[in-house]
Amino acid sequence: MNIAQQETLATLVSHPVEWNCPLSRYTSFSIGGPASAIITIDRRDELPLLLNFFVKEKVEWRVIGRGTNLLVKDSGFPGVILILGKEFKTISSSLEESPDNVEVKAGGGCSLSHFSSVCMDRELTGLEFASGIPGTVGGAAIMNAGAWGEKISTIIESITLATADGEQTITRKNLDFGYRCWNNYTMFDNKAVVTKVTFRLRRENLEKIKERCQILQKKRRKNQPGGYANAGSFFKNPVNDSAGRLIETSGLKGLKIGGAIVSEKHANFFVNDGGATAADMVALMHSVQKKVKKNCGIDLEPEVHFI
Ligand SMILES: Cc1cc2nc3c(=O)[nH]c(=O)nc-3n(C[C@H](O)[C@H](O)[C@H](O)COP(=O)(O)OP(=O)(O)OC[C@H]3O[C@@H](n4cnc5c(N)ncnc54)[C@H](O)[C@@H]3O)c2cc1C
Repeated sequence: MNIAQQETLATLVSHPVEWNCPLSRYTSFSIGGPASAIITIDRRDELPLLLNFFVKEKVEWRVIGRGTNLLVKDSGFPGVILILGKEFKTISSSLEESPDNVEVKAGGGCSLSHFSSVCMDRELTGLEFASGIPGTVGGAAIMNAGAWGEKISTIIESITLATADGEQTITRKNLDFGYRCWNNYTMFDNKAVVTKVTFRLRRENLEKIKERCQILQKKRRKNQPGGYANAGSFFKNPVNDSAGRLIETSGLKGLKIGGAIVSEKHANFFVNDGGATAADMVALMHSVQKKVKKNCGIDLEPEVHFI
């Protein structure tokens, strides 16, 4: 971006722009070089201005959530990173047609765990599996986040997206999800922002919901490595198998390249010992893929997204 573009950009948003800011501060891996600019968008009316500016000025951009599924290059991102702030974190009051049909809307920037706990307090079931997934509602829709055999696409009624051409809502019958992906999104080439997701939930007894959340969170604490920066499961599970099992049976737990380690606790978690670079993580990924292919004949595909 040239100086004139930087000056214009700063006038389009109320939140101060962070120039040349390391993305390691915005990813759960704590890895990533600088973005030219990081912009938190607090107001809805700022988004169309920004998206039009990017198109007109041919400025690279990408929206992220909490960066909990991201590996960002050490060289960073030569453009603008958008983060959804205040007005994209709201949860709207529900429309209740019947106890089995309660509609709740959440902003794309809303924390998924927070949304799950708000729904629990309103005695709404369906999101218990998501209570320990540390991303945003927008990120979860893009990833078709899931756990314990459940996935977010099951309860999504519609998704609202913003592009430079305006906002559009895609309703359930036209939504096409895959394993850890939302297929419709590929046609936008990462140039659309999930601003809102509408969910269809059911009423349930509060104690039952609480109990389910507690059981799942306990399971999560037992199985996943705490204390080290990570991005959850690194690879997608192959059909009828688990990436963790394949990595473990290939004897790769504890494998270390630079500061990147295959977790001893859960082999599909790669952790940062505090000094890992993106290059270390990529080298570890290639090494694991090669050894699993040799041992088990299976190609592991990353679940983590790359910027
Ligand atoms: C400890 C830990 C445990 C985890 N457990 C699970 C689990 O059980 N199940 C699971 O599915 N995942 C899990 N994850 C991975 C991750 O939390 C999920 O994939 C989550 O949905 C990502 O959300 P995010 O907001 O952090 O997205 P990000 O990582 O910021 O982004 C992911 C992708 O979505 C895009 N994106 C994000 N927000 C938007 C938006 N508003 N509009 C358009 N595009 C957007 C980004 O550009 C990127 O391509 C775990 C991660 C960690 C660190």
